[in-house]
Amino acid sequence: MDPTARPAAASPQVDAVVVGAGFSGLYQLHRLRELGLRTRVFEACDDIGGTWYRNRYPGARCDVESTAYSYSFSPELDQEWEWSERYAAQPEILRYLHHVADRFGLRRDITLNTRVTRAVYDEAGHVWEVSTDTGETVTARFVVLASGCVSAVNDPDIPGLGTFAGAVHHTADWPAGGVDLAGRRVGVIGTGCSGVQAVPVIAAEAAELTVFQRTPVYALPAHNRPLAAAEIAEIKARYPEFRAAQRLSRGGTVFAPPTKSALEADDAERAAAYEAAWDSGVLSGLLRTYTDILVDEAANETVAAFVRSKIRSIVADPATAEALSPRTFPFATKRPCLDTGFYAAFNEPHVTLVDLARTPIEEVTPKGVRTAGREYLLDVLVLATGFDALTGSQVAVDIVGKGGTTLREKWADGPRNLLGLVSAGFPNLFTVIGPLSPSVLSNAVFSIEQHVEWITDCIAHLRRAGATEIDATPRAEDDWCAHVADLAAGTLYPAAASWYMGANVPGKPRVFLAYTGGADRYRAECDAVARDGYRGFVLS
Ligand code: NAP
Repeated sequence: MDPTARPAAASPQVDAVVVGAGFSGLYQLHRLRELGLRTRVFEACDDIGGTWYRNRYPGARCDVESTAYSYSFSPELDQEWEWSERYAAQPEILRYLHHVADRFGLRRDITLNTRVTRAVYDEAGHVWEVSTDTGETVTARFVVLASGCVSAVNDPDIPGLGTFAGAVHHTADWPAGGVDLAGRRVGVIGTGCSGVQAVPVIAAEAAELTVFQRTPVYALPAHNRPLAAAEIAEIKARYPEFRAAQRLSRGGTVFAPPTKSALEADDAERAAAYEAAWDSGVLSGLLRTYTDILVDEAANETVAAFVRSKIRSIVADPATAEALSPRTFPFATKRPCLDTGFYAAFNEPHVTLVDLARTPIEEVTPKGVRTAGREYLLDVLVLATGFDALTGSQVAVDIVGKGGTTLREKWADGPRNLLGLVSAGFPNLFTVIGPLSPSVLSNAVFSIEQHVEWITDCIAHLRRAGATEIDATPRAEDDWCAHVADLAAGTLYPAAASWYMGANVPGKPRVFLAYTGGADRYRAECDAVARDGYRGFVLS
């Protein structure tokens, strides 16, 4: 026998395993099926939908317009689905995903109630052995982690949390049947996008609402509204043109790019631009006014001051308005929130803001929350404390690559990969909208489609070439990580202790986790790599 001969690749039970059945997993399944791949999707929850199944908290809705925050791959789907609101609420988005699953016959390859716990690469056979918490093991040539970028829940380590006698619910794990808050004393910890959306809706129901805020955010008005029949007809008539423009866009929404520095404009011009952006109800509206909002501190401060003036104009009590006003980080270096009544809720007599910067939480007691100031008595405690974003859902799986190295070990000082897609030493393992890609800095559905299509084309290429394995080279990976870090360093993003930086999870390395160069530039780079025969990757 020739000792240098490579063993033949083993025949896996399926061609691909996809982890997660949200927006990413559903589309990945559809595309791999089109390629003729035998594909299994494992979903930990008892239903499909991912983020839009689990985040059922009151007020949950998207913050990119639904006509853009939806799949673009099927013109028929665009024409047949009808969004009822500018920003659809969670139940409607979940109905849309159910419709997609039915329309494209996806359900038969999805196994619910099954969490992927471990994936081990068999180097000799070029297959992944994937294990689940139901005791199943399946071998697959390819694994796609479609497990979400804001999905691993961040449970806060607050002393005494387990002693609370009332109910505790995380916004990202909200009971399917809802929670009866009528007549109850409710506490909400956290004022990120989830808290900002939940607070006004909870305030409308609860007898008393106490909001525990550690850091104030910049929240912009959504100006959400029902979509009229004429508007829907117009959107549908323009859909092909819109989707084509969206594909080339910087972040998955279509707009004319700014051309001027905020500091070149005089006060009146700036004020008019900011008012128009505020009135537009578009999350990125203020960012799009001038070229330098995210790169120049002085330019950024003009927007920050404008938002603070708006907060003062809405919130009647000056001390509460000041406590709600962000002053410790530049505008948009933490994700701004889209608000429907958040600031106004603090004008209600039964809503109280507790500024944890002044009086930190000391402990949760059986009766409520005790801060340095006093004890707040509560019946229900809502944790709107966010996620172990971008890397959490991947390192939650025990992934063992070449040489027995685990992804967890490899990423101990921060994620490393090429194009956000493949981490060297973990061949045939792809990630959808994970770290070091535009991900959370873009319209997620749009970036999901770009990743899924790239991954599908890559697998098609491997099959055509008769190759069984693709891996990133360490050198190309180093270059990509350095490029992503350089781009981030040229922005104001690192100035905030944000979840973009891993700063919200104790012990998580501080690395800027997303690609800041724009989804258009990123797509061009991904396409060029593929065109150049998968430059930076090794195919074998
Ligand atoms: P988040 O932005 O991380 O906000 C978490 C909040 O909890 C922050 O105010 C944080 O304070 C606070 N917090 C965390 N641990 C705490 C502790 N131990 N004690 C007191 N306060 C604590 O999480 P999120 O609001 O769930 O949003 C995360 C992301 O999910 C969003 O940025 C967005 O990308 C996505 N999302 C989108 C929408 C939408 O509109 N479509 C809605 C919800 C979520 P610090 O700021 O001081 O850390």
